[in-house]
Amino acid sequence: MSECVECDICVVGAGMVGAATALQAARQGWRVVMWERQAPVQMAHRLGMGIRTVALSPASLALLASLDIVPVGASMTAMHVWEELGTATLRFDAGDLQLPELGRIVENDVLVAALWRHLTNEAGIEVRLAPEIETLQAESERVILRGDDLAVAARLVIAADGGRSRVRTLLGGETRRWQTGHAALATVVSTTRPHAGVAHQRFLREGPVALLPGTQPNLAAVVWSQPPAQAQARRTLDDTAFCTALTRATESVLGAITACDERLVFPLVQHLADEAVPHPRIALVGDALRVLHPLAGMGVNLGFEDVSGLGRALEGGGDPGASGRLEAFARRRQVRSRTLVELMAGFRDVYAWETPGRTWLRNAGIRLVDSLPALKRQIMREALGLGPVARAMR
Ligand SMILES: Cc1cc2nc3c(=O)[nH]c(=O)nc-3n(C[C@H](O)[C@H](O)[C@H](O)COP(=O)(O)OP(=O)(O)OC[C@H]3O[C@@H](n4cnc5c(N)ncnc54)[C@H](O)[C@@H]3O)c2cc1C
Repeated sequence: MSECVECDICVVGAGMVGAATALQAARQGWRVVMWERQAPVQMAHRLGMGIRTVALSPASLALLASLDIVPVGASMTAMHVWEELGTATLRFDAGDLQLPELGRIVENDVLVAALWRHLTNEAGIEVRLAPEIETLQAESERVILRGDDLAVAARLVIAADGGRSRVRTLLGGETRRWQTGHAALATVVSTTRPHAGVAHQRFLREGPVALLPGTQPNLAAVVWSQPPAQAQARRTLDDTAFCTALTRATESVLGAITACDERLVFPLVQHLADEAVPHPRIALVGDALRVLHPLAGMGVNLGFEDVSGLGRALEGGGDPGASGRLEAFARRRQVRSRTLVELMAGFRDVYAWETPGRTWLRNAGIRLVDSLPALKRQIMREALGLGPVARAMR
């Protein structure tokens, strides 16, 4: 018989979203068990910067600051978007919104390590490293999770166990999937020109390629979305051939690419669970709830929106899984997630238009947006999680 630990809230998965969820809940006074499969591993990096990065929005940075975490990373002060098939460009500047930065590019490893330092020192959190959850039993007063040598009985389970969520699978609910036709190739590169805090994204016929500001002036993080076979072929190119291909694909916007780290390829399937709260005592957050195409850099930012929404719903003690308590949270997060998943699918389709008429229409639309400062500011505010729609949906 495995030991059974009782708690108010069991958070499954201590990635960026789960660790932040557990910290916030403990600071609200809940007794929290954090169930994670493995402790984070710090990877070695050839160019001195981690390959997996996220662009954290000002709203995400504010949430982390409320948990006493100030992520170290590269400030992104502007974003420049252009495309292969036209001449229209879009530029977003932090100054237009009187903000010091549009966001910060942070290495996943660095942020997870910072969150874990807090997790392991937080009085109200018991971190348990345990292998796979074998069974989930959802009752009216509690949920019991059982693995080989651990069982946890919680009044609320929060699943933050990523895109292949075990909790979601054990519950057996429906998950809607959108094929993107893309895989993302990620790496870090050295460039001859400094990035000066500007993120560059070019829409190629095969998919978008982004150069994001790195932790040194001449380092950039690369996310290159493309058909899976193409991504695999580019992953195995020798370094010189890859750097030449990337210099060409980005039109030398940062000069020549002179060196690259290992290349990782991630399959890209967007998905959305049918319900953010599939049982009154179980909530899904982060990638366990939905996975987005990385072209807008929104994935973990939506996850941190989930965390702040849950924080509001769980204020004030009582029973964290009381009937109806998470209803408004569930509704808002479902609407926000569906809107963004569909928007990303739409974006991808519009940028795949190749006929002259449609290319002209897209370019005319982009020029129009770029020439209307008020509209641009509104789009930026919503994308950064600071606009009225984003705030209302938390
Ligand atoms: C190439 C690429 C670029 C991206 N760029 C951006 C960006 O710029 N901005 C952005 O916002 N997002 C970006 N994203 C998305 C972002 O990386 C994800 O949204 C984010 O990592 C999700 O965090 P999470 O904590 O929900 O899940 P995860 O990071 O997947 O963490 C899940 C955690 O749960 C644990 N776990 C899994 N299963 C179990 C189990 N059965 N039991 C216990 N523990 C378990 C795992 O070990 C892990 O610690 C990008 C994604 C990709 C692929």
